[in-house]
Amino acid sequence: MGDVKLPAGAMNSILRLPRQVLFGRGVTSVVGDALRDMGRSVFLCTDANVEASGIASPVVDSLLASGFAVRTFAGAVAELPLSCVEACMREARRGPVDVVIGLGGGSSIDLAKVTAILLSYDGPIDRFYGENMVPGPVAPIVAIPTTAGTGSEVTPVAVVADPSRALKVGISDPRIIPTIAICDPELTLSCPPAVTGFSGVDALVHAVESFCAPRMVNDWSPYPGNVFRGHNELSRGYSLVAIERIERSLERAYADGGDLAARIDLAFASLCAGISFAHAGTATAHALQYPVGAATNTPHGLGVGLLLPYTLENARPDVDADLLDIAKALGLTGNGDLAGAAVDEIERLIHAVGVPTSLKEIGVQPGSLATFASEAMGISRLIRNAPRQMSELRCLRVLEAAWSGDRSLAGVGGE
Ligand SMILES: [Zn+2]
Repeated sequence: MGDVKLPAGAMNSILRLPRQVLFGRGVTSVVGDALRDMGRSVFLCTDANVEASGIASPVVDSLLASGFAVRTFAGAVAELPLSCVEACMREARRGPVDVVIGLGGGSSIDLAKVTAILLSYDGPIDRFYGENMVPGPVAPIVAIPTTAGTGSEVTPVAVVADPSRALKVGISDPRIIPTIAICDPELTLSCPPAVTGFSGVDALVHAVESFCAPRMVNDWSPYPGNVFRGHNELSRGYSLVAIERIERSLERAYADGGDLAARIDLAFASLCAGISFAHAGTATAHALQYPVGAATNTPHGLGVGLLLPYTLENARPDVDADLLDIAKALGLTGNGDLAGAAVDEIERLIHAVGVPTSLKEIGVQPGSLATFASEAMGISRLIRNAPRQMSELRCLRVLEAAWSGDRSLAGVGGE
């Protein structure tokens, strides 16, 4: 794989999507019809909040009305610890399962993906860590998000917290792309402001990192090769649509959770950003968030959002051509340094919805930064997707700038 830049339209491109993607208000009422011909026994993975809020009821009612038998595990928890996966599997194995539904935030959907794998193949689960490690087809997965951010409803990725590993680990395989994604923006109306803000920021980072990913000469053999394949022509438009919608609606939804128009924009943006990064991939901000999140126990969206302006600054000028397109999507005009203005605006937006400005503020100790840089370099599927080739020293430079809250320290110069 090289880093040769090709003219627009000349890149090898790839789209791997669910068989159906349904988006719109009230679409959950037809879940039962959408799953027709997928068997009779549904296993639903969700969390206690979603179950208590009543959000699950129309989904379950629709399934029951269509003749499905429904069993529910409502124990999904954030960050998806293995103990949760094990409890879910004990429940799932008590009866037949034709379809696994994930209803909730990223953890519920990722739990459905892992459940589908473990119902189809013997564990232990660490057999499947990494890329393309699922041996064959898995039980059909249906994803119904209740937050607007992870994009997990369309991605080939599930992330779990394994106590035997210092960092969270990913299962990355096209075989766990959901068969059906059902996105009803009304399900996100009850998200509190912090969840709305951090989830929306996560979607923004997905859109920006996938758009700025390098143009790779995709040598098709071996296939499937890397799951994340860099910026490509079939996915790039989704990134720009997502950025445009997040720019116009994230602050509105954060200020007023009942703003349905803003919620629709964000749910759509999250879906589009998910489609884009499912192919193009995310990069340095996501790699650095793994150790930062593990050390500070802070939400994923907070971490990737905090880090993104610093990683972009570090990637300039290699990333400036892409930043000009992003500037347009952000509605920026003028003759000055539009690429720099795009990073400024991304930074402003992220902070406007509650993301802190420095790693110092979230309790990171400066003595940890070198370890974080080394750990992030170990996440090769993300690091190799950076627009500027990363080294441990470059990661450290980004982290030091992010720790002090001074973006200029991340720029090119010494390294
Ligand atoms: Zn993310």
